[in-house]
Amino acid sequence: MSTRTFREDVIKVKAGSSAPGQAQGPEPRVVELPPALTVKQLGEALGASPIEIIKQLMRNGVMAAINQVIDFDSAAIVAVDMGFEARRKAGTEKATGLLQQLLTETGDASQLEPRPPVVTIMGHVDHGKTTLLDTIRHSNLASREVGGITQHIGAYQIEYKSRPITFLDTPGHEAFTAMRARGAQITDIAILVVAADDGVMPQTREAADHARAANLPILVAINKIDKPGADAERVKRELAQIGLAPEGWGGNTVMVPISAKQGSGIDDLLETLLLMADMKELKANPSRPAIGAVIEARVDKSRGPTATVLVQHGTLKVGDNIVVGDTWGRVKALITDLGRRVREGLPGTPVEVLGLAQVPKAGDLLVAVPDEKTAKQIVDERLRQANLEKAVRRPLSLESILSDSKGAETKELLLIIKCDVQGSIEAIQASVQKVSSEKVRVRVLRSGTGSITESDVLLAIASKAVIIGFNSRPEPGAQRLAAQEGVEIRFYDIIYNLVADIEKALAGLLEPLVKEMLEGHAEVKAVFSGTKHIKVAGCLVKDGKLAQGATLVVLRSNKQVFKGVLSSLRRFKDDVHEVPAGTECGVILQGFNDFQVGDTLESFRIEAPDQASR
Ligand code: GDP
Repeated sequence: MSTRTFREDVIKVKAGSSAPGQAQGPEPRVVELPPALTVKQLGEALGASPIEIIKQLMRNGVMAAINQVIDFDSAAIVAVDMGFEARRKAGTEKATGLLQQLLTETGDASQLEPRPPVVTIMGHVDHGKTTLLDTIRHSNLASREVGGITQHIGAYQIEYKSRPITFLDTPGHEAFTAMRARGAQITDIAILVVAADDGVMPQTREAADHARAANLPILVAINKIDKPGADAERVKRELAQIGLAPEGWGGNTVMVPISAKQGSGIDDLLETLLLMADMKELKANPSRPAIGAVIEARVDKSRGPTATVLVQHGTLKVGDNIVVGDTWGRVKALITDLGRRVREGLPGTPVEVLGLAQVPKAGDLLVAVPDEKTAKQIVDERLRQANLEKAVRRPLSLESILSDSKGAETKELLLIIKCDVQGSIEAIQASVQKVSSEKVRVRVLRSGTGSITESDVLLAIASKAVIIGFNSRPEPGAQRLAAQEGVEIRFYDIIYNLVADIEKALAGLLEPLVKEMLEGHAEVKAVFSGTKHIKVAGCLVKDGKLAQGATLVVLRSNKQVFKGVLSSLRRFKDDVHEVPAGTECGVILQGFNDFQVGDTLESFRIEAPDQASR
């Protein structure tokens, strides 16, 4: 028996074990293995035939063919069983090794210098985010250039009391979380805008959750105080209820009343922002090679691929060779938000970069490297590795998240819970909190009523959380994104089952999730009475198909009202096996007699867990 510990870089044989084929000597042979490799490559590395490797994998419950890619954990188990000590090959490929070095080198502490804070403005729609950004920009233009606002590059810098502040120009938390999901942590402080005449709204709550999930300090701007219906005290009370208690009330959230439209309170807001930035002691080393993150990117007709990059460390210079995500380039020109060409971009500063081979993605990392050859080599290696890793990507699931955090002092299980009604949220929160122990903390990152949105899935990716749908279903976009990114959404309708699964996951006993494979959607166009008062839904299949034996979820206004097995599928009085998209059919659902015109039927095939992909 071997010890199986995920995310450990060295996997050894347990003392006293008697693995087959293992020499009982004290010094096992060391083998270095990459994060992903084929069965054949593993055979070569261990000097064994692929058949032997396949057999060993099967003994460990992994079914794999000779050319199939397996991950380090699976490969290491086999290696250990065959008498080796398996080590994770970390950046041993030349170019990638250099990249790692560039990313981790911090330089001398004496080289650190203060850098401007980077701020994101969030809040509910129409509460004044765009107006606030505009007002701040107009009244505090860097160097006050006349007619200077020429560029939209996704971020800009102002100067307030001779101190630069960088604002991300895409208000809203979705863009912010999308970047975080790609690994880019670029914001230092979030300004949460709440309209004084409207109060805390769903997106206010959502924005606060997203900012907290990223551990960002939140500065609240209570906006529109010029309006007759404005009631700042009410807003404060509502904010306190969502965990943002104002300073005077024993909390520590600073709230500044402003009118973005009239420009009042803006000085107070910026003053507070700078104080908060001072507390964070934001510093970076401008003397090292540049590291940055892409804020937005596009193809310009005359200039080719361009990307706005927030420089985070080092100084980005014209002529630098750079790797950006999966592409590379040589900086031809750097342009500021005021449309000025500059020779270099300092930490905390956004610049538009010209000279890339291809368009990168928002959230991609930029790194300056010594020469063009290295840049190309790194990108080649990355693409190769990414392809391999994609083949074995482990989904974000209740099971994998906990095993990934093994070894950490305190494990934490993060949940995003969406329910049909507010009452269930409170009951679920209370129940799952009770499951927390000293070793494993269960934390609800976000909870709310309604369907599961793309923003929930992004937050799950960014924070490594599991999504729980309690009588709640994902919106189509969210479902696609979750499937694409391998985010697990678990559905429940009984709190006891949910709590039991979490307990099992914590104890490492969770059975792999039974997969729901989406097959299609149909809309109920009419409802008929069949024999014995059974209701038949006359449906039009919108996409995919409906098939005998499928599990159907009945959705009404995007809320689940029933889930059961399709018991009869007919077309013109004939029983049929399946009905494709664009076709009408009659559906009877076991145990459900309450169809309404306009209901959506979501069809799934339940699949037993796939051992091979685990
Ligand atoms: P966003 O959706 O959060 O970006 O909101 P906008 O900035 O587009 O503002 C929505 C509406 O509220 C616009 O009509 C603004 O003119 C108005 N608005 C924004 N700030 C204020 C304010 O301080 N006072 C008043 N009276 N109206 C404001």
